Amino acid sequence: MKIGFIGLGLMGQWMARNILASGHELTINDINQNTAKELISMGAEWADTPSELAAKSTLIFTSLPNPEIVTEVALGKNGILTGIKHGSSYFDLSTTDPDTIKEISHKASEKNVFVFDAPVSGGTIGAKEGTLCIMVGGDEQEYTKYKNILELMGNQTVYCGTVGSGAICKLVNNLIAMTLKVVLSEALSIGVKGGVPIMKLYETTSMSTGDTHILRTFPKGLFSGNFNPGFKLSLGAKDLGLAINLADSLGVPTKIADIVQEKFSEAMEKGWKDESTHSVAKLQEELSGILLRK
Ligand code: NAD
Repeated sequence: MKIGFIGLGLMGQWMARNILASGHELTINDINQNTAKELISMGAEWADTPSELAAKSTLIFTSLPNPEIVTEVALGKNGILTGIKHGSSYFDLSTTDPDTIKEISHKASEKNVFVFDAPVSGGTIGAKEGTLCIMVGGDEQEYTKYKNILELMGNQTVYCGTVGSGAICKLVNNLIAMTLKVVLSEALSIGVKGGVPIMKLYETTSMSTGDTHILRTFPKGLFSGNFNPGFKLSLGAKDLGLAINLADSLGVPTKIADIVQEKFSEAMEKGWKDESTHSVAKLQEELSGILLRK
């Protein structure tokens, strides 16, 4: 199949590779052409604009930082919709909000194009290994036609409902994940200040009711002083904002999420935006005068 992929960053790079490695024809685009070098050496074709890429593809994927950029790439001058062929499909793998994808879907329907929100979870390791969880919103029948391609990137593909449902699932997940990073750093700092080594706290918690997937990312990240992204703090802050906006629009109160968002804003002001989201724990380290390190 002729597939197009736009956004070759920490996630897109690996997802595009997995598609290419399975033998599909792949056209790629990114605002930063340096991100394409390796994929081109593996056989991918470069397109200068999203419009040019769309004209060459039957199935299009994007993995982009935020809703504003997704909108620009889809609907802007030289955007996907200016080049896309009738009957093609477009899956946005980025984390955005339901309204963004609904607007794109609405405009694309005039061209008989199916649009899906398909945000992913599982980080760069999941992207590399093709083990992401992909949360799909959109037309169910049309989605099943492309399920096998999605499975090249994620071995856990979940149909969530109509367009926008995948984005909602992803924002709920990321609100939980970002909140846990803040709560865990607070709880663990009590333990360390109380005189128990961090790995003893980890051992007991990971065997007990406080265990979570997020806790299990700490030994290689925070506890090792490794703040390389992974998942950038700026993207975590963006997801918190999107989750809180969604809650506001639905009339749902978010006292805890508001505190977590404040923590992420503070960490961004410290200049840690391009570090991993584990950096938010450094605020708690500073406040309590300890380090959460092995
Ligand atoms: P990234 O910043 O590493 O990559 C984004 C890519 O988009 C970059 O290569 C950038 O050059 C490109 N880009 C920006 N503007 C563009 C434009 N106008 N046209 C074409 N390309 C453009 O981000 P990432 O970590 O790969 O994340 C991508 C998306 O996936 C985000 O929405 C993020 O929230 C989500 N996500 C990330 C992770 C993770 O662990 N990194 C996990 C799950 C979901």
